[in-house]
Amino acid sequence: MVLHMQTIDNFNFSGKKALIRVDFNVPLDASFSITDDTRIRAALPSINKLLADGAAVILMSHLGRPKEGPSEKYSLKHLVPHLSALLGRPVLFADDCIGDSAKKMSAGLKAGEVLLLENLRFYKEEEKGDEGFAKKLAELALGNNPSQGFNSSQGFYINDAFGTAHRAHASTAVIAKFFPGKKCFGYLMSSELSNADKVLHKAERPFTAILGGAKVSDKILILEQLIGKADNIIIGGGMAFTFIKAKGGKIGSSLVESDRLDTALKILEDAKKRGVSIYLPVDVEAADRFANDANKKCCAIDAIPEGWMGLDIGPVSEKINEGVILKSKTVLWNGPLGVFEMSNFESGTKSAALAIAKATKSGTYTLIGGGDSVAAINKYNLAGQVSYVSTGGGALLEYIESGTLPGVEAINS
Ligand code: AMP
Repeated sequence: MVLHMQTIDNFNFSGKKALIRVDFNVPLDASFSITDDTRIRAALPSINKLLADGAAVILMSHLGRPKEGPSEKYSLKHLVPHLSALLGRPVLFADDCIGDSAKKMSAGLKAGEVLLLENLRFYKEEEKGDEGFAKKLAELALGNNPSQGFNSSQGFYINDAFGTAHRAHASTAVIAKFFPGKKCFGYLMSSELSNADKVLHKAERPFTAILGGAKVSDKILILEQLIGKADNIIIGGGMAFTFIKAKGGKIGSSLVESDRLDTALKILEDAKKRGVSIYLPVDVEAADRFANDANKKCCAIDAIPEGWMGLDIGPVSEKINEGVILKSKTVLWNGPLGVFEMSNFESGTKSAALAIAKATKSGTYTLIGGGDSVAAINKYNLAGQVSYVSTGGGALLEYIESGTLPGVEAINS
């Protein structure tokens, strides 16, 4: 739990050299144009605050998962023109995140200037959390030559990369130790954490968690955590069938994790013991193959004929979910309730999204997190009608599961 967050608002960065870890891991098309700049935009408030204070700003990020060293495909240089336009000033680029170009350019960086470093993951040391590599990055802000205008008392480290805060990488966690008393969260990190804390520690009741997506195995830890916190848990998506099968239902050829049947039963028992209501779907839209134009029939969730697979929850389940959502004061949603990418099997996900938006209007706090539920809320143009849409799926889940993250600990310690 983040009680007293050191945020970017606690400092004035005038004359400081600010090294900020951002998450610029944006999708690029074949000609290296950015197809979705959400992550860049999410970091702008922090960067603009640093610039408004009069800092020299060094930006560092990863892009994609480069396998072996530098490559054109994963170069952050492709982001420079768009970032320059968004910031309204030219962004300088160092074609290596450590080494001579980075050192020289950051040493000469003046107040109001912005330098973007090349992809951190071009060095395997980044993901290994290598301390020597972290120190080299830190020196870009701390400097090792005070006569160059900035010195160690002027270097700051800011973490605004929530999407990678669950990784103990060199730039997200290890580096923080070189900035005692001069490290903090950026705006994105602090709002992500305070929104997650709202459901984790300050949830108004009834608190309903909606969990969907493909696999139970991905969601066991979060389910265990939520059983200690939520009043209601709505389960949908592919993961529901493991529960239904565990209870003895017939699920046809629906998605199932047969090695998790005992886990599913244990989760149901624990929830019962603790007075948490679990809502499994009661009906299902089944298909005779995994395709949008498959033959479709609605049946009881525990009586799916052989050769048919459940791809969406049915209308009765939709109504039940809607009722639970509208009676809640706090809602956390992670994972679609069906194969929402296919228009014939999106109804359960869409109706939940609409109910969440409706509940928000009447004062319910609603947090959407996790890649596919965010994609769903965007698909239905409802992102502006919920309380908060998290930018970091994996990080949010891990924060809820464990109550902290390596990137958070590093700033707080
Ligand atoms: P996850 O990444 O675990 O949140 O899973 C998201 C994916 O689960 C989406 O691509 C959905 O299409 C898929 N999904 C949801 N419901 C089902 C289902 N009933 N059968 C198969 N896949 C599903």
